[in-house]
Amino acid sequence: MPESRPLPSAVLQQEKRRAAAAKPVTIVIFGASGDLTQRKLVPALHTLACENLLPQPFAVLGLARSPLSDEEFRRQLKAGVEANARITPAQCGRWDEFAGRFSYLPIGYDDPASYEILSERLAQLAQELRSHNVLFYLATPPQVYADIVERLGAAGLAQHDEGWRRIVIEKPFGHDLASAQELNRQVHQVFNEDQIYRIDHYLGKETVQNLLVFRFANAIFEPLWNRNYVDAVFITVAESVGVGRRGGYYDQAGVLRDMIQNHVLQLLTLTAMEPPVAFNATALRNEKVKVLEAVREVQPYEVAQMSVRGQYRSRNGGPTYRQEEGVRPNSQTATFAALKLYVDNWRWQGVPFYLRSGKMLRTKISEIVVRFKRVPYLMFPKDYEGIRPPNTLSLCIQPDEGIRLSFNLKVPGAGMRTQTVNMVFDYGTHVGENALPDAYERLLVDALQGDASLFARSDEIELSWRIVDPIQEGWNEGAAPLAFYEPGTWGPREVDEMLARDGLVWATGCTDG
Ligand code: NDP
Repeated sequence: MPESRPLPSAVLQQEKRRAAAAKPVTIVIFGASGDLTQRKLVPALHTLACENLLPQPFAVLGLARSPLSDEEFRRQLKAGVEANARITPAQCGRWDEFAGRFSYLPIGYDDPASYEILSERLAQLAQELRSHNVLFYLATPPQVYADIVERLGAAGLAQHDEGWRRIVIEKPFGHDLASAQELNRQVHQVFNEDQIYRIDHYLGKETVQNLLVFRFANAIFEPLWNRNYVDAVFITVAESVGVGRRGGYYDQAGVLRDMIQNHVLQLLTLTAMEPPVAFNATALRNEKVKVLEAVREVQPYEVAQMSVRGQYRSRNGGPTYRQEEGVRPNSQTATFAALKLYVDNWRWQGVPFYLRSGKMLRTKISEIVVRFKRVPYLMFPKDYEGIRPPNTLSLCIQPDEGIRLSFNLKVPGAGMRTQTVNMVFDYGTHVGENALPDAYERLLVDALQGDASLFARSDEIELSWRIVDPIQEGWNEGAAPLAFYEPGTWGPREVDEMLARDGLVWATGCTDG
């Protein structure tokens, strides 16, 4: 195991200065009795508080329908923090002080009287903290987002003359283009775009951000990063678990909506985008939007060639999607998708981007593999296994964050035998496993600082639905028949057939296969 080292002190100092510059704030979490709050949000807040990265003082008000007392709420939170935080209460030693900043308010999400009480509590907290800054965080199921936003607006809580008001909205943002447009319209009636932080926690991951640094702070790869040298790009976001207790939600959503529209397309945009002119929200998001605009829309007659949809089904007593709790017994919902997309611009013309995501796959992994073209002529004799795989550059996002470059070299000894080897950079070894911030830590700090760079803008969300909708519609009409796959594999064999038509096999770089 690599030795655990803290974040470089210069970085920590910079973060502390950023935190100190922020004014006191109240964080209001809707859906505070839920899974996300327990497993992600409060553990992230705890770690940030331990590292002195939160504005001081701060208060957190949890809201949900469940009748909980402050004490019960804090007990729930402690269990979540102990199990999930990067820095546990025992390591930090400041639990009572931290927990004392949390209180709970039972509400009806669409009940005006609840918002009057909320308004009074916020006024009280503003007096105590001497600040009217409020970050609203929607961690409820998406069907209540619109109600909450409307009620916040009606109660006059969305703006304040003496402080900022921001709102973080969890994914999924809509379930298709029309619903995303409608939700954007509803949210824009109450909040300005610069107050809205649509979260995709993938953007909070260190390796995803590192993709920007890797591409735009190094000169050596940029000349190769285009159609002249890149043969294909492979993006995988694979889960090794099934739907668990989320069967009811998942059966309505499926993999295109749950993973491809957000995480996978975010990875595609960061891989394919042009260099932004500055590292700020507007410049970054402008470039990401241009990529999404350039993604060629899959036509109805192409759906079967450009996509594979699968569902896990075990033939030997293992997990089967249709037997999961909350799933319809004849469900046609895809738990796996593989897509082939093209980005129609000068840089990427003719380069296929293969995307895949699914549940119950062989291993949990997220990676981007850039496969370069073969050498134009190979002078080594073919009978020495001279034809080696082309070079690949793999950006490993999880679970082991890092970068790998594969290349061919000579096997020592007589003759000219070759072998493929990897040059490996492992983030964990470099900074210490436990020093890598969780994505939610980073994104919470950014939202508190007013930095929206790593959040999705309204046009970005709508454009990604524009890409996904025709495929979903084609599937609904029976294109790309549902293919079943055995849990623990890489999905249906139809994926191999799709790639074989292009003379390829799926390139992996962060896993041994
Ligand atoms: P939960 O199902 O745990 O719901 C959160 C809270 O919302 C519940 O505690 C419940 O509180 C309330 N709630 C549940 N169902 C309803 C309903 N039908 N109507 C109104 N309120 C309801 O969700 P999660 O915490 O898992 O997720 C919250 C949001 O975050 C979702 O939009 C999800 O997609 C997103 N998300 C979650 C992730 C995770 O890891 N959990 C990861 C990424 C995104 P009460 O009954 O007390 O009101």
